[in-house]
Amino acid sequence: MLAAILEGLDTLLLREVKPPEIEDDAALMRVESVAICGSDARILHHGNPRVTPPAIMGHEAAGIIEKAGKNVTRVKEGDRIALGADVPCGRCVWCRNGLGNNCAVNYAVGYQISGAFAQYMKLPRLLLEEGPVTHIPASLSYDEAALAEPLACAINGLEIVNMSLGKTVALLGLGPIGCMMIDLARAMGALKVIGVQRSRMRMEIARAYQADVYISSEDENVVERCLEETGGHGPDVVITTCGAVEAHEQAVDMVAHRGHVNFFGGLAKNTRPAQILSNSIHYKECFVTGSHGSVPRQHELAVTLIHAGKVRVKPVITHQFPLAKIQEAFNTMESRQGMKVIIHPHA
Ligand SMILES: [Zn+2]
Ligand SMILES: [Zn+2]
Repeated sequence: MLAAILEGLDTLLLREVKPPEIEDDAALMRVESVAICGSDARILHHGNPRVTPPAIMGHEAAGIIEKAGKNVTRVKEGDRIALGADVPCGRCVWCRNGLGNNCAVNYAVGYQISGAFAQYMKLPRLLLEEGPVTHIPASLSYDEAALAEPLACAINGLEIVNMSLGKTVALLGLGPIGCMMIDLARAMGALKVIGVQRSRMRMEIARAYQADVYISSEDENVVERCLEETGGHGPDVVITTCGAVEAHEQAVDMVAHRGHVNFFGGLAKNTRPAQILSNSIHYKECFVTGSHGSVPRQHELAVTLIHAGKVRVKPVITHQFPLAKIQEAFNTMESRQGMKVIIHPHA
């Protein structure tokens, strides 16, 4: 089969390799769609302690079960499924309490578990028993189903900030996650959604989601504009859906009293520390949290929300490539010409 092998820093090579062998407690998935995540590009250029080359990345995936070992009960041949990234170990204190994205072992598809930038992928026992393996309806496309993984992370990001009816939500960054969060925030009761974005091209794509207000961080003062849009009170919920430390600072600056800030987007390793006046947290009685990854329950919910049309993912799918053009696909994603770039390994 054809696979894109990560052989070291900045080295992603297409190779013809033997398809994985399947034991009695594993299954084989024919990969139909796999999206490139920002984290895949970070691993390619900077490495990751959980990825040991030669390795196959790719965790935003959907496909069809080609073969299931005789002890496997969760899936059978012909099942259409979507995969998530974080795989709970099922045993540590976090996993036992339903917080598998904080697992002490921290297994993930496309990290320790060989991923989906290949024509076939093995679903090992742990992934099948504890992991985000979700059946998808016949009418849901593989491309859309692949994006249940990032949507699951978005669900985790909004569940943690106590969403409820009537809130104003500001999203600092309208990449794929920020766009999905516009729909998701509304589904969770937001009355007003404010989207902030720097690049004009992404802003144009984000307009398909019809946020109530769009603010260009290139031309406008983000904190002032968000205060203006909320009668001077500030948004009840502010999510940093980007990788800029300035957004962390703006978020704490603008959030309402008793509001919630979520540092959703991770920052590059050598980013300077955020300069936050902790007294503003003190006087505002606001809550500042982070969030990362998701748990299998949220992946299932993501598939349901996409299928129900509650969260639209098609507008953020801007490019599709065959696996043979994975380098071009990465370049397209990293040059930010596109939003979500999807690979079709059998095209
Ligand atoms: Zn991802
Ligand atoms: Zn665990």
